[in-house]
Amino acid sequence: MSRYRLRPTPAQEQALLEHCGHARYVWNLAVEQHAHWRPGRTSAPGFAEQCRQLTEARAEHEWLRGGSIIVQQQALKDFAQAMAKFFGMTHRRPTWRRRGRSEGFRIVAVKAGDVRRLSRNVGEVRVPKVGWVRFGWSRAVLDGVKSYRITRDRAGRWHVAFAVIPEPIPAPSTGEVVGVDRGVAVSAALSTGELLNAPTPREAEKTRLRRLQRKLARAKRGSNRRGKVKAAIAKLKARETDRRRDWVEKTSTDLARRFDVIAVEDLKIAGMTRSARGTVEAPGGNVRQKAALNRGILAAGWGRLVQRLEHKAPGRVVKVNPAYTSQRCSVCGIVDRTSRESQAVFRCRSCGYAGNADVNAAGNIRHAAGHAVSARGGPPLGGPVNREPQRDLLLVG
Ligand SMILES: [Zn+2]
Repeated sequence: MSRYRLRPTPAQEQALLEHCGHARYVWNLAVEQHAHWRPGRTSAPGFAEQCRQLTEARAEHEWLRGGSIIVQQQALKDFAQAMAKFFGMTHRRPTWRRRGRSEGFRIVAVKAGDVRRLSRNVGEVRVPKVGWVRFGWSRAVLDGVKSYRITRDRAGRWHVAFAVIPEPIPAPSTGEVVGVDRGVAVSAALSTGELLNAPTPREAEKTRLRRLQRKLARAKRGSNRRGKVKAAIAKLKARETDRRRDWVEKTSTDLARRFDVIAVEDLKIAGMTRSARGTVEAPGGNVRQKAALNRGILAAGWGRLVQRLEHKAPGRVVKVNPAYTSQRCSVCGIVDRTSRESQAVFRCRSCGYAGNADVNAAGNIRHAAGHAVSARGGPPLGGPVNREPQRDLLLVG
């Protein structure tokens, strides 16, 4: 998702507010229905049932019928996702949306010509029932926008965020499998021995950011000056984000082009075993500081990298159980917890192999993926692999 400042005309703003109102109304209806649900009663209506009810509601209420069905359906979809997150215990139960507070709606089924550039700094996006709305072309919009979300913050500023799902990249059909390990000191280690570094803030930028933050602390609340400092900080951070996203795009394209199968840790399992692995929690010396600094950045960047890989190499990304990937020797296969000499060095006491610990882990991820691919009885690597990955088979112990 990349966000741009939207600049609607006053008339368009009215129409956008109407979309927000419809989305809010539908969302709140869904909240209401679920609020009455208690354990033991028949289940609260799911997404499909709610869509049917929406059709009925549109037949009944003219003002709802006058709005965009996409906006209203997507509000239901957002709600269904929010409930899934709630049941997954990662988020709180979705609550009522109030007018004027974080309002927005989503448009899907966006066509190729619906986003275009007008001049160096101005673009425009076609919004159903609103028309072409201009936005600040502050950075490149990637090809292949499939959906976007329009939001209005409390200060009344409008933004549009485009979700781009890139076209799949054909497999090289060489049978090559690569293991990718999420490192701490470096962003990613490949089983080929390559170490990839995501861009981190430059020294000059860090200095400037610290200076701006001090200024912000001194600026009076609600003052003009404070607004300006905040904007400068946001701009600086946006530039960093852009650079990292750029890196993710290039890296995912490169991996999808070079390898038939790309093996990564299963993040859901990794989250649970990470502490046992002791890479993030107990890194050594200098790495510790850097790790603390980059942890958040890397966590976000890694998730995005895997997501992009799945878009660009659908069916070719294998997720493996990361257990023991740091303790197993990728050369002889011995699992020995004392082999990890330090954060950076792996030294096998059995066969004598020594090397970068993250590369060794990447080698093990590659090895686990090899098992997963043969276990699902697929063709030898390199064949046309455009089917969906069978997740349960891919989790090898
Ligand atoms: Zn060994």
